[in-house]
Amino acid sequence: MYGPSADVMGCEELVDTLVSYIEESFGVEYGAVPEVVHASIADVESYVRDRDRAITGVEPDAATVHERAKHVYGSTSGIYDGINHRVLVMDNAARPQVLDDLGQGIEVDPTTMADQGELVYILAHELVHGYQRNHGAPSEPELIVASARSIQQENGSITGRLAGLFRANHMSEGMQLVYGALPALTVIEGQADYMAMGALLAHKDELPEAAAYAAQKYVEQTTDSGDGDYRTMVKGLLVAKQQMEAGKAPELCTSPQFAHALKDAQYIIGFDYIAETARDEGHSMDWFVENLPDKLDAFL
Ligand SMILES: [Zn+2]
Repeated sequence: MYGPSADVMGCEELVDTLVSYIEESFGVEYGAVPEVVHASIADVESYVRDRDRAITGVEPDAATVHERAKHVYGSTSGIYDGINHRVLVMDNAARPQVLDDLGQGIEVDPTTMADQGELVYILAHELVHGYQRNHGAPSEPELIVASARSIQQENGSITGRLAGLFRANHMSEGMQLVYGALPALTVIEGQADYMAMGALLAHKDELPEAAAYAAQKYVEQTTDSGDGDYRTMVKGLLVAKQQMEAGKAPELCTSPQFAHALKDAQYIIGFDYIAETARDEGHSMDWFVENLPDKLDAFL
């Protein structure tokens, strides 16, 4: 039922096919194809280690890496590693057992269990991230580091320092970093879904299961945003940000539900923004990668 990765993972032919669908559907030149890895827990540890090192500048502690890798392994079916230009695809059939063997009660999030059609969709989505990277998109650690730097600069001015002090009491630094990286990540994630869906829907006959999954996801995506009314979601995010900055909603800063909602918002807002802007302004997919926004207002 779930799984089987053999058909998806390590399958160079499928990777090449998806890359050619992406190129052909959107008239883009993909560039260097990433290595696609059938990911073990050790591969995920290596990803977490590289990511932490890139963000903090120091070698992360092995026990922390191991612990975080288990959480990542339990909560996702695919990852694009922008540092190493590599796609990690999990073996869904093996994930529960691997985590069980590692012990300490971390389980696979059932919503991240993927069937064959979804695994192909996930692979297409992660491959779009590879195209974006080839065209100069920053990796997630680079976005977080840039966001941290801009906070430091803001704290250097007098009003900025006050704002920083105020926030330090009411808003976790983590949430500021999340908001700093959010606009670019919204385009990056929305475009990955938009192009994966477009490429698969254009090839219904060749990959029927994946195209069926893409079609279902398209319906969900447009319903979740209130039929394309993504601006209302953006306005909600801006209000939450202002409240946090004013210290009015300290509970939002630490709420896992809010963090989760922010992540979901990236996909929904980004997808609808790209669909609408590509249609109305006629922008190419390359244009979106080359013009990543740094403010949420860009979506209004
Ligand atoms: Zn993604």
